[in-house]
Amino acid sequence: MAGILIFSENNGLALELVTAARSLSASLLAAVAINNDDQARMLAEAGAQVYMVKNDDIVPADVGAVAAAVTQAAEKAGADTVLLASNRRGKELAGRLAQAMGAGCITDVSVIKLEGDKIECQRNALGGATVATQYIDAVKKVIAIRPRTFEAAGREGTGKMEELTVEIKKSGIKVLEFKSRAGDSVDIEAAEVLVAVGQGLNSRDDLPAVEALAQKLGGEVACSKPVATDKKWLSEERIIGLSGKKCKPRLAVLLGISGQVQFTVGIRDAKTIVAVNSDENASINQMADYIITADLHGVVAEMNKKLE
Ligand SMILES: Cc1cc2nc3c(=O)[nH]c(=O)nc-3n(C[C@H](O)[C@H](O)[C@H](O)COP(=O)(O)OP(=O)(O)OC[C@H]3O[C@@H](n4cnc5c(N)ncnc54)[C@H](O)[C@@H]3O)c2cc1C
Repeated sequence: MAGILIFSENNGLALELVTAARSLSASLLAAVAINNDDQARMLAEAGAQVYMVKNDDIVPADVGAVAAAVTQAAEKAGADTVLLASNRRGKELAGRLAQAMGAGCITDVSVIKLEGDKIECQRNALGGATVATQYIDAVKKVIAIRPRTFEAAGREGTGKMEELTVEIKKSGIKVLEFKSRAGDSVDIEAAEVLVAVGQGLNSRDDLPAVEALAQKLGGEVACSKPVATDKKWLSEERIIGLSGKKCKPRLAVLLGISGQVQFTVGIRDAKTIVAVNSDENASINQMADYIITADLHGVVAEMNKKLE
């Protein structure tokens, strides 16, 4: 392997990529930080050789410009493999970057490891019903790894920072204003504890008891897709699954959720799963560590009382 370069605009995810790169190669770890001095410092402290790109022509919304900068950083670092985070921006960048580098590309990777001299990637396939193992044959590779697959690297090294001048075409995109997204800003992917509700919940009026339980457990409320998209009881930010978030909490309490594969694909990496369902044959029980066959409303009331 000629070397690995990592990039994410998100500081936390960039540190996760440092750990991912280290798991593949002990040396030759480079990173690029674009108009982000704080990130450059953090990555250097984590042991990476950091290329600092400072160029006002790189508008974050212009994926082509970001891809051009990362390509030039990879060339400078002599890296044939670029690791990105498989968040929304990372996935958008992956295709552009692969095209610019002449590389093969895999996104949504949940397991990455060296098999001999090959990088083995695993990702969900067929709507989450199975896991596919894939390799890139091309010499150059762009691989986007799902958030929270790796721990963030600590201050484990003494990397170096170096300014890198890149040639970027002036962007046709002009940013007029930055606005934070309106509405629910919960990050269920980052939560250590999730209390998720499904269509077994009787009504929206039963949500406060679920919210109280989540709060007592130090977690967030999440849901199956129909609870957000059909019933509109919770925001779509809280959906777990194929069309929602892939979560890896320490504890997941699943209330009145049947366990369709499109849901379970988003929660199967949870450390401990407690399933509460009135149907003893519910599919969700197959993946649960603890099964409570009962009416969820009674169980929530009892748990809230016990945790008072
Ligand atoms: C392309 C595609 C993408 C999809 N993406 C997603 C996704 O990302 N996330 C997702 O969640 N779904 C997704 N779905 C939908 C998915 O297939 C299921 O329809 C959905 O997960 C079912 O939600 P549910 O378990 O809440 O409801 P149901 O399947 O209706 O299950 C309700 C459960 O509640 C139990 N129950 C009823 N009353 C009680 C009670 N009083 N106490 C305890 N238990 C009770 C029932 O026994 C049942 O098991 C997707 C579907 C498609 C086709």
